[in-house]
This record gives sequence, C-alpha cells and structure tokens, in this order.
Amino acid sequence: MEKENKERLVKIIASAVLLTAAVVVSKVANLKMWQELLIFLVPYLIVGGETLMEAAEKLIHGELLDEDFLMSIATLGALCIGFLPGAESQFPEAVFVMLFFQVGELFEDMAEDKSRESITKLMDIRPDTANVERDGEVITVSPTEIAVGETIIVRPGEKVPLDGEVIEGSSSLDTVALTGESVPRGISVGESLLSGCVNLTGVIKAKVTKPFGESTASKILELVENASESKSKSESFITRFAKVYTPIVVAAALLLAFLPPLFSGDFAGTFSKWLYRALTFLIVSCPCALVISIPLAFFGGIGGAARKGILVKGSNYLETLAKLGTVVFDKTGTLTEGVFEVTAVHPEIIDPKELLHLAAHVERYSTHPVAVSLRNAYPDEADGCSVEDVEEVAGEGVKAKVNGKVVCVGNSKMMESAGADWKECEKKGTIVHVCLDGVYVGHIVVSDRIKRDAAEALSALRREGVEKTVMLTGDKEDVAAEVAAEVGVDEYRAGLLPADKVTEIERLLADKQAGKGLAFVGDGINDAPVLARADVGIAMGALGSDAAIEAADVVLMDDKPSKLAMGMKVARKTLGIARQNTFFSIFVKLLVLLLAVAGLASMWMAVLADVGVMVLAVLNSTRALRA
Ligand code: ADP
Ligand code: MG
Repeated sequence: MEKENKERLVKIIASAVLLTAAVVVSKVANLKMWQELLIFLVPYLIVGGETLMEAAEKLIHGELLDEDFLMSIATLGALCIGFLPGAESQFPEAVFVMLFFQVGELFEDMAEDKSRESITKLMDIRPDTANVERDGEVITVSPTEIAVGETIIVRPGEKVPLDGEVIEGSSSLDTVALTGESVPRGISVGESLLSGCVNLTGVIKAKVTKPFGESTASKILELVENASESKSKSESFITRFAKVYTPIVVAAALLLAFLPPLFSGDFAGTFSKWLYRALTFLIVSCPCALVISIPLAFFGGIGGAARKGILVKGSNYLETLAKLGTVVFDKTGTLTEGVFEVTAVHPEIIDPKELLHLAAHVERYSTHPVAVSLRNAYPDEADGCSVEDVEEVAGEGVKAKVNGKVVCVGNSKMMESAGADWKECEKKGTIVHVCLDGVYVGHIVVSDRIKRDAAEALSALRREGVEKTVMLTGDKEDVAAEVAAEVGVDEYRAGLLPADKVTEIERLLADKQAGKGLAFVGDGINDAPVLARADVGIAMGALGSDAAIEAADVVLMDDKPSKLAMGMKVARKTLGIARQNTFFSIFVKLLVLLLAVAGLASMWMAVLADVGVMVLAVLNSTRALRA
C-alpha cells in the first residue's frame, strides 16, 4: 500500500474510534448542543479535513463543483441541521457519511494501484539485475548502470536485461511476455537479442546495443503505463457530464430544501425535514462510481490486450477497435512473411554473379525485406567496392553509385525513371530490375510466402463484424492478385507508391459507414503516413522495430494478423464492461434518489449505496483484465 493510502487508513480508523466514543459520550452525558457538536467535530475534521480544504480550494479557483464539494456541503449541512428549531441533531450521520466516503476513496485508489500493478506483473518483463563483464570479472548490477557496448551474460532461466547482439553462444528464447505466444525462438551469434525475453537453454554473451531506458522491455512498459492516460471518449464524456451535472444537483437540492416548506404554509415546522431530504439527495448524487469505473475498465482492457501481445496506446483506440468496419492491409510483411528468397537470376549482358553483386551492394543500407533477401543471396557483400550516394525511393527501389557507376535496383517504375529498357519476366514473384549507368543488365526474381494465419485472420475479422477488407501494395498486379485471392480480401490495389496509399485510405475513409472505424495494418516500413491517417494505425511485429512502435496506435507484437480480431474481441468486452458499470450506477442512483425525495432513504443508506455501487463497478472492471 502506498504511503498516502496508509495515512488515509490511519485517519479512517482514528476517526471511527473517536466517532464511537462520541456517540457513547453523547448518550451518557447530558451535553448541550454546542458541546455535542464539538466532540463530533473532532472525528469529522480528522477524516474530512482534507476533503473540505480541497473543496474550498477548487471553489476559490472557480473550478466546478465535484464530489468533494457535494460531500462537504452535505455533511456540513447535516452538522448544522440540529440547530434548527424542532429538528433532531444529525451529528453522527454527518461524521459517518464523511468517514464512509473516505473508505470509498481509499478503496478506489487501492483498486487503481492494484490493477496497475497486476498489469506490470502480468507483463513480467522488467529485468531487475544484469550480469556484466568488467575487467575480466562478471558482476551483477542493476540494468540501468550498464552502458552501450558493454558485454552482458545471460544464463538459462534469466531474463534478458537489455537489447543487444549475441557475440558468443546460442540458445532459445521464450518470448511469451512480449508476444503472448510461448513458441521458443532460436538465437545464435550475430543475431539481435531483445530485453524482456527469457533465456531458456544456453549461456549467451551479448554486446549491449541500447541503454536500459531505450530497450524493448522499458519501451513496452512505458507504453502500457502511459496508455491509461490518454482519455477515451466515454471518459471525457463523464468529465463533461460532471461539469453540468453537479450544479444541477446542487440547484435541485436547494429547491428540494426550500420549495416544499414554502408551499406547505408552515416553513419553520417543515424546513428541517426537507433539508434532511435535500442533504440525502446530495449524497446520493455523488458520481463516484461513475467517475472511477470507466477508466478502470479501460485500464483493465489495455492490460488484458497486452497480455496477448497486443499493445494498445490509449483507451480511445480500444473504442475504435470495438467498432471497425473497414480493415486495410499492407501486403509485404503484413499478410506475407516479408522474408523474400531469390528464386531466379536472369542477367542480360553481365554474368549472374555480377548481377547479384551489384544488387547486394546497392541494397547495403536498406531495411526493406527485398533488400535483405538480395544481401543474403550474395554473402560476400562486404568486399572492397565503394558504395556512395545511396538514395532509396520508397515503393520503387534504391539508387547508388557502385565503384563510380550509377546502379538502380527496383521495380519497373524505377527503371522508367532511370530511362532503362526493362524486360518482363514470365516467372512468378516480385521482379527486381537492375540497370547500370542507364543500361538494363537483368533482373532477379524474389518471392515471399503468405503468412500461415493470414486467411484465418481475414475470416475472423469478418466474424467480428468487419464489412470490408482491402489490401494495398506497391508490388506488381499479378503478385497482388494471387495473394489477394489466397488470403481472401475483398479488394486490392497494386502498384501503389506510399503517397498513393494515403490517397486510397482517404477514399476508403470517405466511403465508410458513419460510426464505423477504419484500421490500417502495416509493418511500419515506409507506411508511417498511412498508419497516421487511418482511424487506428496498427503495426505488425514490433519485435525490434522502433519505427512501428512510434508510428502506430496499436502494435501486434508477434507479426500475426490474426491478433487483430482478438484485439477487437478484447475491445468489445471492455466497452461492454464500461457500459454495464455506467448503467448500473445510474440505475441505483436514480432509485435511491427517488427514495430520498420521498423521504424513505436516510443518509446512511445513501452513502452505503454510493460506496457499494462503486465497489461492484470496480470488481466488474477487473474482468476486462482477464479478457
Ligand atoms: P508493399 O506495399 O507491398 O509493402 P513497398 O511499397 O514497400 O511494398 O514496395 C513496393 C515495391 O517497390 C516492391 O514490391 C519492390 O518491387 C520495390 N521496392 C521497394 N523497395 C525496394 C528495395 N529496397 N529494393 C528493391 N525493390 C524495392
Ligand atoms: Mg510495406
């Protein structure tokens, strides 16, 4: 329990004891009214002093009335009521109401801490220690103390503390905490190591590539923790609602206190009775449960999704996910593996090895999946050749000077702008053309595999109520048609440049049904503008890709398009829970309000109902976490 809450608890206990004592004393001793007030004021101020101060402060700053204010005037009113002619004193009630209100607040705080804590615990990825090699010795330190470039040692069973590159040993990693999937991944020398994974089998040595704060584990935790701060529409609705609501309630209470006695003809005789009802009415109107239960439900939903490897950056995106009507996919790396293999080399005037050599050199710095495949096909890429003036044209290819000659590597658009006379190829796959100083020297055919769960992902989305699925790609028409047919998207567009993709998204946004959302799913490589333009931008496979984490609103950690439908399910459940909480608390409120107006509810009942509803709403919210 946090320090603040501990203090609150102490105050509550002290006040409860003193309240009991005061009740006993007032029964036994024959005190004057003002003496009685004094002994009840002690427990009242102990437990409610802070609330009174806060209410006064807000009032001075002209901030609108909230629950602190409602509780303050209700209890102050109750303390005064006894001084009215012919009225019974309500000192114990006043203290009790304030006391119970504080119990409710304490509970609310604890529930919030608890769900925050359980999310972090669920996502058990924060490493506590790291073994670092310094001056030939291995010492254990906090991961924050390790600098980039140092060597860390990760033994089996340990969590990888920082991102790095393996320099010795091989092992398999459990990535469940990052992806929600517990398929071990093999890892060996030269491969990159992500913090937050658990090392399963062998001892590995790695060179640290990122400081702790920028490592994957820290980034993800930060994301999840901040997610709850960006407010959803229903949350901002509640805030706006409270602004109108509280003044109305106060006005209604005033009317309730004054109007009936005025009309009864016997003001002095009936005022205290109606004042009591008005005060009860104020207590009932406190929107505590309403205010807490919605953010808590969303928080739970974000945590529940994170457990499944779906990072949602804010409650508002959860809302959009729940009502997606159109889902647009990028092809490469999203519906396909994005791991190309060279399947044919067709040179024109040079020999095949030279063609691969040129292509691999030009692609030296590109992160595009096509580039990776070309480099892999020519293992001796890092020879003495000079590669200068590299210029990557998104959606087309790369241009560079190799040993002083201008080489272009890319699709037919690239060849056209280079003025080279390219040739068609009868082979299936993505054709990478190469020209040397404007002269066509041949092409390399690379092909990609469709992801295993792609088709299933699309049918799952349809089951979740998505009406339209579209695939956009910069690739050729025939490759696009084949992938589209195989995975079963409704529409596709081929040969698009990144800017065309934005235009397409805009067209689809204009077409979509009102009230439905549009999602774009991409891999974060050259589709950041599209990710930003969609109602919700979803990036694939953030494992290792910072760009994707930055640009997207939702990140699917393990490359699987089928996770999107799962995310929609979690989002729906969360919204359902938030809605249940709202309806339930409003219903109970209305009921007790009517009873209060009719004089059938006491202040005790009112505060118990308020706190009771809140507790139920909080418990209901935790269901979202277990989605
Ligand atoms: P997608 O829309 O399928 O994700 P991109 O927009 O990234 O594809 O790329 C479209 C096309 O441009 C690719 O199919 C490829 O032919 C060509 N291309 C893009 N980048 C490169 C590169 N670095 N090297 C060669 N060709 C490239
Ligand atoms: Mg792409």
